[in-house]
Amino acid sequence: MSQKPIIVWFRQELRLSDHPALVAAAQTGAPVICLYIHDDVTAQSWAQGGASRWWLHHSLKALAQSIAQKGGELTLRQGETVQALEAVIAQTGASAVYFTRGHNPWSAALETRVKTLCEKTGVDCRRFGGFLLFEPEDIRNGSGEPYKVYTPFSRFCFAAPAPRFPKPAPDSLKGVKLKSDKLESWSLLPTKPDWSKGFTMWQPGETGAQQRLADFLDDRLAIYGEARNFPNVEATSGLSAHLHSGDISPNQIWHAAKAAIAKAQGKHDKSGETFLKEVLWREFSYHLLHHWPHLPDRPFKPEYADFPWASDPKGLQAWQHGLTGYPIVDAGMRELWQTGIMHNRVRMITASFLIKDLLVPWQEGERWFWDTLVDADIGANAASWQWVAGCGADAAPYFRIFNPVLQGEKFDADGDYVRRFVPELARLPKTFIHKPWEAPALVLKEAGVTLGKTYPNRIIDHHFARDRALAGLKQLKATA
Ligand SMILES: Cc1cc2nc3c(=O)[nH]c(=O)nc-3n(C[C@H](O)[C@H](O)[C@H](O)COP(=O)(O)OP(=O)(O)OC[C@H]3O[C@@H](n4cnc5c(N)ncnc54)[C@H](O)[C@@H]3O)c2cc1C
Repeated sequence: MSQKPIIVWFRQELRLSDHPALVAAAQTGAPVICLYIHDDVTAQSWAQGGASRWWLHHSLKALAQSIAQKGGELTLRQGETVQALEAVIAQTGASAVYFTRGHNPWSAALETRVKTLCEKTGVDCRRFGGFLLFEPEDIRNGSGEPYKVYTPFSRFCFAAPAPRFPKPAPDSLKGVKLKSDKLESWSLLPTKPDWSKGFTMWQPGETGAQQRLADFLDDRLAIYGEARNFPNVEATSGLSAHLHSGDISPNQIWHAAKAAIAKAQGKHDKSGETFLKEVLWREFSYHLLHHWPHLPDRPFKPEYADFPWASDPKGLQAWQHGLTGYPIVDAGMRELWQTGIMHNRVRMITASFLIKDLLVPWQEGERWFWDTLVDADIGANAASWQWVAGCGADAAPYFRIFNPVLQGEKFDADGDYVRRFVPELARLPKTFIHKPWEAPALVLKEAGVTLGKTYPNRIIDHHFARDRALAGLKQLKATA
């Protein structure tokens, strides 16, 4: 008698290699139903934003091709996950559901419901790791508590037994032909207007991710430690969106980086360690999210819920559109809009500007990034916004307020990053590129800049804003 099929429910691991659930299913020799369910119901207000949907479309397209090359087929279904799974089990008489554990705040409840469905229908249910290097509950401090501070957390990870080595993709996938949605019918791509035209540097999917990792290790790992803070230098890996959708696993990155560091025989040790530490920031974000699932919505430090925020819809809009009059802030916000990504240093500067200069609640910025970043990730985004706001675990202290002019002068000294994304300032000399309001009239004229016309006047004076933010902090402390 032929074997009943096994459903592999794909979630945020849109790849064939290092996919433990898929490998285990293929090893049984049973036909494998590769199933992806597009479920906006369960995530509710955290359903994927626009730029992530663009990525998802292309990543699924690439996955379908890879599965087809192995002899299988990707089945697409839309709707509430448990109902969709129940329908596929009923249609196929599947014997089991295999899946990778999710780490979003709603994942645990969803997985319990999937388990209940499997028990009800007499189907085996198996859950695998694959999204993180370390499962959050395996990491505890000396008192058995979760870590709240990054440095001891990362020390624990470095000292722990090495993360699992990556598994190769199955040689072949015996598929099952099933009715599937057409990817295009999900309308994941923008149409009117098509704001994704500038996303040309991305190749979502497993092949693109592996290529990007290889290029990074060959060309940029050596300079990563020194150059990763300079937005106009291509020094970082650019792997975050691939990691978010699971085009690549953290284990593949970790072990490939370790091998590259070893091969360089001491030349890249420091730079390599800095890179591995950044990968561990992702783990730390998910460690926090696991133990404090309200992280995307509420401050980790509850007293910050009473911060005297301002209502500034005009300021928020100027920030979103890159029209604040602060060149480094505007360059970052336009980079985001044009390419779906923003350099980490500039994310910190723009976030600080929104929260501390404009006093707009951090959740507003978090939401904008959620919609516009191709790497929008519930763990990293929430933890990072809270870090900048000063209300997160192990956060930058609130009183540390980024000065957008000094940050620009330090990390974009020649102004080339600003020139790239704010072309109306391109002809300003570097002395004034981060503070055009200080440029003499003749310099502005020669550069073709008319403040208030070709480029906005500053929407706020940073020194005034800084004092106002510190007064807000004082008020918060007085009432706490
Ligand atoms: C306000 C703000 C919002 C952010 N939102 C997101 C987000 O939605 N998604 C996201 O992946 N990152 C987010 N980050 C973190 C960081 O900016 C990006 O991970 C990084 O810029 C991605 O570029 P890269 O892949 O070239 O990183 P690299 O420097 O090459 O780092 C390698 C990997 O480490 C991880 N990593 C690096 N820095 C961090 C960090 N601070 N926190 C968590 N993981 C990190 C990422 O997975 C990254 O791909 C945010 C940072 C800030 C300040």
